Amino acid sequence: MILRGFIFIEMQEVDYIVVGQGIAGLSFCEQLRDHNKSFIVYDHSEKGATLTSAGVLNPTVLKRFTRVWNAEKHLEEAKQLYSRLAKELNLSFFTEIPILRRINSVEEQNNWTVKSDKREMEPFLSPEIIDNDNPNINAPFGFGKVLGTGRIDTHVMINAYKELLQEKQCLREEYFEHSLLVENKDHVTYKTIRADHIVFAEGPKVIHNPYFQKDQLISNKGEYLIIHAPKLKLDSILKASIFIIPIGDDHYKIGATYSHGDYTSNPTTGAREELISKLSDIISCPYQIKDQVAGIRPTTRDRRPLLGPIESNSRISFFNGLGTRGIIAAPSLSKQLFNFLENGIELPEEMDIRRNLN
Ligand SMILES: Cc1cc2nc3c(=O)[nH]c(=O)nc-3n(C[C@H](O)[C@H](O)[C@H](O)COP(=O)(O)OP(=O)(O)OC[C@H]3O[C@@H](n4cnc5c(N)ncnc54)[C@H](O)[C@@H]3O)c2cc1C
Repeated sequence: MILRGFIFIEMQEVDYIVVGQGIAGLSFCEQLRDHNKSFIVYDHSEKGATLTSAGVLNPTVLKRFTRVWNAEKHLEEAKQLYSRLAKELNLSFFTEIPILRRINSVEEQNNWTVKSDKREMEPFLSPEIIDNDNPNINAPFGFGKVLGTGRIDTHVMINAYKELLQEKQCLREEYFEHSLLVENKDHVTYKTIRADHIVFAEGPKVIHNPYFQKDQLISNKGEYLIIHAPKLKLDSILKASIFIIPIGDDHYKIGATYSHGDYTSNPTTGAREELISKLSDIISCPYQIKDQVAGIRPTTRDRRPLLGPIESNSRISFFNGLGTRGIIAAPSLSKQLFNFLENGIELPEEMDIRRNLN
């Protein structure tokens, strides 16, 4: 209890304050729940990167037929978390769905076969080239199949998780005012909350956080079209120059675009035209555009996340820099951050936010 003037203010004591309820915030909260830590989450319900994301769990880079950083570990941890959570919330937001990569030439067919035979790619690339039997898709050289892939409906998951937090009375749907945060040697206070630690998981909006060094993040805007195409009849994710992602009821997510340096999340005509043009090279059936969405990927120069505190022993930490692959990487990275904060296990340098401070 603290005395302010003549008024007694009851302080609520928790282990953690978490700011942000995108995939970084959610994954970290799951670590806290697993370890019986008490926490309060602030999220002001503006659409972040996670809600715009396609939610695809893809362990490969399909331009070069290589694997992403820590592919096996990230995929395994992601699948574990999402399937456990879907079960607990009694929802089917996680589906295992294959990705078919359109092959563009005989040379690429050979390249796929060679790459799928390499030890590091064997778990992810099926060696067989699949013929195209869909008359509405232009793929004369067939497809290569990526193994172990899946998709999260991020809207369903995030909204259901917020309801769970509300039931447990640990969600405050409001903007976190950084100027009201007070850092002490062994705790922080914010309004009437005292916490051992605060973790900022604010996605691209972290650039407004005065504790963050702004130039560590690079915005990478991405846009999608949502189309209705009843004749397309696609039940796998298709990757050509863009992704075509079935989202149910003959609707598909088409994208995404990549544009650096723009922090606005309004859809643009340029992206719409680019996506329509690329789509016309892949499908031949009619479709209607139903929506266009845009979001910012929180990327970094070296494509590695930004985890932990900026000052040693500080009670203020970050969970950011998830870039283009946050849905697959966040569950595993949340463990690293938790183990660092609670058990003193050092963060690998490539993830440590302090690696490239000015
Ligand atoms: C178009 C697009 C497609 C993508 N597709 C994929 C994909 O298929 N697979 C994949 O693995 N990754 C994908 N990504 C990347 C992935 O979505 C991101 O890496 C990830 O969502 C980042 O999550 P986050 O929690 O860091 O940020 P966010 O999702 O932006 O969450 C941050 C949250 O914090 C809140 N917040 C911020 N500041 C405050 C404050 N001061 N007070 C209160 N609340 C605050 C925001 O409102 C938001 O809710 C895609 C991204 C985009 C944009």
